Amino acid sequence: MDKILKRRRHQLDEFKAYLGKKNTPAHVEIPDGLYTKCPQCGEMIPTNKLRDSLDVCPNCGHHFYIESHKRLAALFDDGQYKEYYSHMKTKDPLDFPDYDVKLDKAKKKTGMDDGVVVASGRIGAIKTIVVVMDNHFMMASMGTVAGEKITRAIEMATKKKRPLIIFSSSGGARMQEGIFSLMQMAKTCAALQRHLDAGLLYISYLTHPTTGGVTASFAMLGDINIAEPNALIGFAGPRVIEGTMKQKLPEGFQRSEFLEEHGFVDMIVNRAEMRQTLVKLLQLHV
Ligand SMILES: [Zn+2]
Repeated sequence: MDKILKRRRHQLDEFKAYLGKKNTPAHVEIPDGLYTKCPQCGEMIPTNKLRDSLDVCPNCGHHFYIESHKRLAALFDDGQYKEYYSHMKTKDPLDFPDYDVKLDKAKKKTGMDDGVVVASGRIGAIKTIVVVMDNHFMMASMGTVAGEKITRAIEMATKKKRPLIIFSSSGGARMQEGIFSLMQMAKTCAALQRHLDAGLLYISYLTHPTTGGVTASFAMLGDINIAEPNALIGFAGPRVIEGTMKQKLPEGFQRSEFLEEHGFVDMIVNRAEMRQTLVKLLQLHV
């Protein structure tokens, strides 16, 4: 709580300084939450304006985190979709210290039971299965429930002969679930292979940040791999790599633009163009 208050005070101070620069009376006070500071350009953006632009900075184009249901509402025709497997609850299979406390905290903060949402609906009139990893819940790390939900989503798409889109965003495997977490990598990939063998489309949509065991499994296996601008996408983080290799990494390493240039990502799409791009791709391939 103290941290939040401190951050709010800091935001307010910065906003006052900003107003001062614009020759506006310095006594103007801004209630909490009305403005959000962009971490890329430093601009104070009215929060409702940010929400209206799908959490993209109108000044510099920085892509903020977006909640899973907000993305889904923007993606499906008329914002209509059905959610699946929301009843699945994460347990603590290894009795890992403090994991239950962390889970409780994440559940209270997000109202979710894990960081994966599975949905079905129409995109450009084409029935599609969509998975969104929501990094507001423990950085959407992949534990047993996340892996199981993703696998069920893939299997549902295969069975119903529908295209599949997975929006990845993850800190990687969930260390509190140890080997149970790591086996989700093989499980999701095996299900995907069966989907591909059936001649069905899979679009992987990489968002900031997609790392670790998620990058090393289903996230890089799309027939088409799309990324949001400036997303961090990689297995180990840059500091770990630099420390191991004892050499400086090139500018922009592990960012969408670098990966596109080197052939790991097929296209970079601004969030404002997400829906129309996917409608076009689905209509071309299905
Ligand atoms: Zn900005």
